[in-house]
Amino acid sequence: EHQHTETEIAKSYVADVYELVKKRNPNENEFHQAVKEVFDSLVPVLAKNPKYIRHGILERMAEPERLISFQVPWIDDHGTIQVNRGFRVQFNSAIGPYKGGIRFHPSVNASIIKFLGFEQMFKNSLTGLPIGGGKGGSDFDPKGKSDQEIMRFTQSFMSELSKYIGPDVDVPAGDIGVGAREIGYMFGQYKKIRGHFEAGVLTGKGLTYGGSLGRTEATGYGTVYFVEEMLQDIGLSFADRTVVVSGSGNVSIYAIEKAQQLGAKVVACSDSSGYVFDEQGIDLATVKRLKEVEGKRISEYVTEHPHAQYYPGCSNIWSIPCDIALPCATQNEIDEIAANLLVSNGVLAVGEGANMPSTLQAIDVFHENKVLFGPAKAVNAGGVAVSALEMAQNSMRLSWSFEEVDTKLQEIMKNIYRSSVEAAREFNAPGNLVVGANIAGFKKVADAMISQGVI
Ligand code: GLU
Repeated sequence: EHQHTETEIAKSYVADVYELVKKRNPNENEFHQAVKEVFDSLVPVLAKNPKYIRHGILERMAEPERLISFQVPWIDDHGTIQVNRGFRVQFNSAIGPYKGGIRFHPSVNASIIKFLGFEQMFKNSLTGLPIGGGKGGSDFDPKGKSDQEIMRFTQSFMSELSKYIGPDVDVPAGDIGVGAREIGYMFGQYKKIRGHFEAGVLTGKGLTYGGSLGRTEATGYGTVYFVEEMLQDIGLSFADRTVVVSGSGNVSIYAIEKAQQLGAKVVACSDSSGYVFDEQGIDLATVKRLKEVEGKRISEYVTEHPHAQYYPGCSNIWSIPCDIALPCATQNEIDEIAANLLVSNGVLAVGEGANMPSTLQAIDVFHENKVLFGPAKAVNAGGVAVSALEMAQNSMRLSWSFEEVDTKLQEIMKNIYRSSVEAAREFNAPGNLVVGANIAGFKKVADAMISQGVI
């Protein structure tokens, strides 16, 4: 009876805070979605620990500590003045300096940045490393821009962002549209403005100026390490499995590489225009050259591999029968229909390499059908975890070998898996890694907030 009352109180607290979030952030559907997924799963923790309600933890977690929006003016190759909007959300600093990537994509707006920053706070906590949650970006579209235009835009973006970041304040990195080149230009501009070589202000740096070995591979490798843990728990592995990986950016490329190393056959990958299906297994060298060197579309793959097929429309990739699906492209790329297709084709496991690639309805479909489901904030945490290792190396002014970083990454992914499984079991949702990851990530941040008082 007592437990029942506590649960009702927790449920109504969650519902009230969710209503407040919707009212304060009208029409920000992605942000609402991310908040709903996390808060709904916290009911059992709140019921067991009413102190979190007393301390107003959910209201405080749902409101970013700071949301910065700024103008980014730049001059294109024709001499025309262009204006984009830049953002940085500093969501939560209870356990460390704000940490999270920068996304350059035309879809970027306050809702996207807030959902990403909100997710980042729990993801970063799950890594076990001392990093708070943040995210940034711009609606700038890098597609078709010259290297000069990228440099001018990125420098202008950093001219404003530099006022709000620092190695002990906020440490950005890459995300969609921001890779080693953009991080390099941002680092140069930050250094010029500050007049200090502060290596730890950005991560994902090049190896010649403070970057970490293994950071490029970390998100994709970590994704596969996590899914391998899920599979091993039921006596399976990647070996001889058919895998579909959406996307063909940094996360996808290294997820494909590690899955292939573990003996899987990856039969498809995609970009925002369409997908390629290669029954013999994707030739990764071709994808790497097309995407990392030549900046071409994935459709070009079939000109070099005529036995493979290209299909326009990227969401249809989920109609391909596979054992393991790794969505590594972008938010909401798997809806209820795609999830049902995967299930009816017999998918065993889904691991989210991208941030929030499954809709709430898609997640329900996976759970109802007993598909092993690894949520983004656990599965793709390897990227930001190695970013935190890059910060550690920068502080020590030394660098670790690839093997050292990769070993640490594997341990971190194992720990995230174990703590998510244990939290799910403790709070009566055995096997539900969405609940487990949310609870495990939440508790560390919430406890740190209580210890530090209302500030
Ligand atoms: N953008 C990546 C993520 O979504 C990495 C962030 C980082 O390394 O700070 O977690």
